[in-house]
Amino acid sequence: MRNTYDAIIIGAGHNGLTLGSYLARSGLDVVVLERRHEEGGGLATEELTLPGFLHNVHANYHTFVDMAPPVKDLEVRSHGVTYVRPEVQMASVYDDGTALVIHTDLDKTCESIARFSEEDAQTFRRLYLEAHGYVDLLLGTLMYQPPMSVKELTKALASFGIEDRSEFLGVKLRRESINWFLDKHFTNSKVKAHLAFHAAVCGYVNDLPGLAIGFPLLVGKIDNWHLCVGGSHRLAHGLWRDLARNGGVMISDADVVRIVVDKGRAVGVRLSDGTELSARKLVASTVDIEQTFLEMVDEDSIPSELRNKIGSGLAHQKWSLFSVHLALSELPHYEASSFDPDVDRAWVVNLGYGSTGELDSDWEVIRKGLLPKFPRPNAAVNSLYDPTDAPEGCFTGLLRQFAPYSIHGEGPAGWDGLSNWYAKQCLNTWERFAPNINDNSILDWAPYSPADIPRKIKNMVDGDWMMGEVSLSNMLDQRPLPELGQYRTPIEGLYLAGSTQHPHGFITFGPAYNALQVIADDLELDKWWNEI
Ligand SMILES: Cc1cc2nc3c(=O)[nH]c(=O)nc-3n(C[C@H](O)[C@H](O)[C@H](O)COP(=O)(O)OP(=O)(O)OC[C@H]3O[C@@H](n4cnc5c(N)ncnc54)[C@H](O)[C@@H]3O)c2cc1C
Repeated sequence: MRNTYDAIIIGAGHNGLTLGSYLARSGLDVVVLERRHEEGGGLATEELTLPGFLHNVHANYHTFVDMAPPVKDLEVRSHGVTYVRPEVQMASVYDDGTALVIHTDLDKTCESIARFSEEDAQTFRRLYLEAHGYVDLLLGTLMYQPPMSVKELTKALASFGIEDRSEFLGVKLRRESINWFLDKHFTNSKVKAHLAFHAAVCGYVNDLPGLAIGFPLLVGKIDNWHLCVGGSHRLAHGLWRDLARNGGVMISDADVVRIVVDKGRAVGVRLSDGTELSARKLVASTVDIEQTFLEMVDEDSIPSELRNKIGSGLAHQKWSLFSVHLALSELPHYEASSFDPDVDRAWVVNLGYGSTGELDSDWEVIRKGLLPKFPRPNAAVNSLYDPTDAPEGCFTGLLRQFAPYSIHGEGPAGWDGLSNWYAKQCLNTWERFAPNINDNSILDWAPYSPADIPRKIKNMVDGDWMMGEVSLSNMLDQRPLPELGQYRTPIEGLYLAGSTQHPHGFITFGPAYNALQVIADDLELDKWWNEI
């Protein structure tokens, strides 16, 4: 192994690989270090049930692939990465046998909403079109540039006329919850429940004050879920190929335990096996803030105030995800298909939230470390749109349920005795709505609990799949702390480029792309890419 590079990047998730590729294409000698046996981080696809059934352990739904600049800049699609955007995106099925369906065709979506409320259908159409009118602006200002403050964002929107033109992005949004927004604009409880559920699966909890500010983007992206054909790991592999093709190196089983700091500057790293690597120009961490500053650097390398803030606890999501992966011999056939046959073609089906109140009660229970008694998971069948993910005539399934990381009185270890039992409860819910999903059609299943998340991906502290709470106080330039909100750190040459940073977790490529802009300024790199 060579031991000197221009740039050392810690973590080979999509952010680490993306930053690595851009820097390699800029002529830097780059190494990306990964503690697991393979690249990808949250882009993990594994045969968790039976051979030939490909399950996306984490990132199943990719929302930004058609607009994130790295997808074009790094020619990701030329590296064997293919996406489909399922035409029937998501549905909600309700206890009374009705269903609401979101299509990629706006007219069809509005027809479905109109079956519950004509007025809500019109409101949805207006908000959706309005959001699409400035989605580029939103992406440019919100996602793919180093973050501004919430105040600056409000001003910027006003200068484009949006603030005046529409209360959609008004000042009020940054104080209010998504529930408030839904109550103000919509009338039907099932329509509101669907929109609230959509926000929550995007990490934006519907009852938290301040998160209404993210709702425009969420409405604009409601029909933009993409599926990576052959499994999400294909994206990781594509990014790795781009890195390699441009002279970069990814080393797996390379567990970084130390960032070497000399006279206030990051000059290299040490691995757990004692290997030392030197960095001529920079070290970038894409892992959690706790590892980076409490474990990897000496106490006196950063101001004690910052160290104390990190030590006293960063804001993490107060909930996590419980998953059940399935190998199936049949596609689900929903009772609600007699109300709307398209339910059977929906990539994802939300099982049962009929009001925002039901969702709110579950948040309350989850925040206490308890499990919702009657789980209402969402059910995805990737094979509907990607037949390559299961053996011929068979299908994969994925149930996801909001759940606590730490079980009341027992901590995360409490999951070890609960996982199988809770998976059964989730399966019962699916069978209730789609009776053919039962012991005859389920060939095998495997639970994956919130406690399993950091066991696999160390940087997802406390099962926090967003790597930092999504809340108004942990957003934009305040994420993860005001001192660390612009990708630079108090240590010269050490940058932060993972999901701890703006915009947040998810397969957005945003943290890496934005850190790149800052690094390019500091190193005076020629910006060959198209800046937003
Ligand atoms: C259950 C679950 C479901 C999810 N579903 C979705 C979804 O549907 N859609 C979506 O967009 N997102 C989803 N996510 C979130 C998504 O997986 C993350 O937001 C994304 O992977 C973050 O990318 P990243 O590159 O910032 O970090 P990661 O992907 O976490 O990559 C960081 C890498 O750093 C490595 N690492 C950690 N410590 C060290 C060390 N000391 N030395 C070397 N390497 C180290 C890790 O092993 C990891 O590979 C989900 C997450 C979970 C847990």
